[in-house]
Amino acid sequence: MILKAITIEDTKGLLGMLPTLHAGVPDRIFIATDNARCPKCDVYVKEGDEVKIGQVIGMRHAAFFDQPIHSTVSGKFVGYEKHYHRSGKLVNFMVLENDHKDEWDPSLQPRSDEEIAKLTRKDFSEILMQNASVGLGGSSFPTYVKFNTDAKIDTILINGIECEPYITADHRLMLEHPEEIIAGIMLLQQAFNCKKAKLCVKSKYKDLKEVYTDFLKRYPDSGIELCQVGNFYPQGWEIAMIKSATGISVPSGHLPSEFGIADFNVSTVVGIYQAIKFNRPVIERYISITGDGIKYPSNFVVRVGTPLKEMLERCGGYKNPDVDKVFILGGPMMGAALPSDDCIITKTVTSVIVLNEEKHEENPCIRCGSCMMSCPAKLQPKLIMDAVKAMDKAKIKELQPLRCIECGLCSYVCTSHIRVTDIVRRAKVIAKLP
Ligand code: SF4
Ligand code: SF4
Repeated sequence: MILKAITIEDTKGLLGMLPTLHAGVPDRIFIATDNARCPKCDVYVKEGDEVKIGQVIGMRHAAFFDQPIHSTVSGKFVGYEKHYHRSGKLVNFMVLENDHKDEWDPSLQPRSDEEIAKLTRKDFSEILMQNASVGLGGSSFPTYVKFNTDAKIDTILINGIECEPYITADHRLMLEHPEEIIAGIMLLQQAFNCKKAKLCVKSKYKDLKEVYTDFLKRYPDSGIELCQVGNFYPQGWEIAMIKSATGISVPSGHLPSEFGIADFNVSTVVGIYQAIKFNRPVIERYISITGDGIKYPSNFVVRVGTPLKEMLERCGGYKNPDVDKVFILGGPMMGAALPSDDCIITKTVTSVIVLNEEKHEENPCIRCGSCMMSCPAKLQPKLIMDAVKAMDKAKIKELQPLRCIECGLCSYVCTSHIRVTDIVRRAKVIAKLP
């Protein structure tokens, strides 16, 4: 189904108010054998083998963890193709032909409430590792690692802030699935033996306030509260969220758990709920596909492994097809630019922004200082840029570019259209050199 009447001009404030569309499941699904964190992989099926949803069809290997690869359709493994991954790299994808029977691996059985009640933090970690649960806010960090701590957790924070422009998929998820989100938070409270939990959202979302104020009345002793925070970017940055929600400043180089905090993205919480309750990996996710380069921006539930090209068709195709397009996976500030639309939607793709390209010529720096005033990590991007130009390694290290969170604000505010963030990224590479 395509929204015929809504265009990007209408949707800047409206997209989050429209119901999420189910994208359907394509005839062919593509599952990456490797990714940015996992350069090696073992494949457990051979061409022609039948597969079921949730079946482990391979194992990715990273420096300090292994990650099972799950089929997201039932059907047949038919070979490999190269496509772009969200990291911007061309990688190998396993091609699965969908039989459209939607049959799950029968070994994946739900857990009873009694079984769940006995699970320890270590059990949670094991189950989430088997289900390849990762940060679905875009970090792709393995979730089980957060459970491998003996730290005393006083507060659980759920990040539903989604502070980048254009993106509203988490907003819709929170509106449409409060049951799963609250059930997921309660599981986290059990795992961390922690009573206090806050669901952090932008204060401008009155609809979320209404839904959760009403919904949480059913659980008056749950210890869960809605926490309304600022509407600015980068309020969703972990450190900024923790400061707003708890008043605690987590210094650079320290973990939130050292301050009694465990935090998770709201989509990750739903994934945790599915893994613990149903013993199922994430096979679909909420995403925003938007930007002024497509006709009908929409929020979708998308099967993991769907080609972006198919989703763009569901958005009515390109607007102004003669104009070159810019493809950004993730938000416009922190997302990765892709060279083409030949990309696959993996489970860590939160959104795809398609923009009509606007070419801006870079001008010399006018020393306005805007980049320094805007930096949430309190860095000095202009000085870092000067040090990179001078290839002054000692100065670069002194300016601590490794604290940069790549929020993109320094580029965004630069009136000279200098890609300051790209230069700070380069500084990070130089700063890591011996
Ligand atoms: S991208 Fe720029 S503004 Fe953002 S943290 Fe890094 S240096 Fe600061
Ligand atoms: S914002 Fe741009 S022009 Fe202004 S100081 Fe920074 S780099 Fe220079």
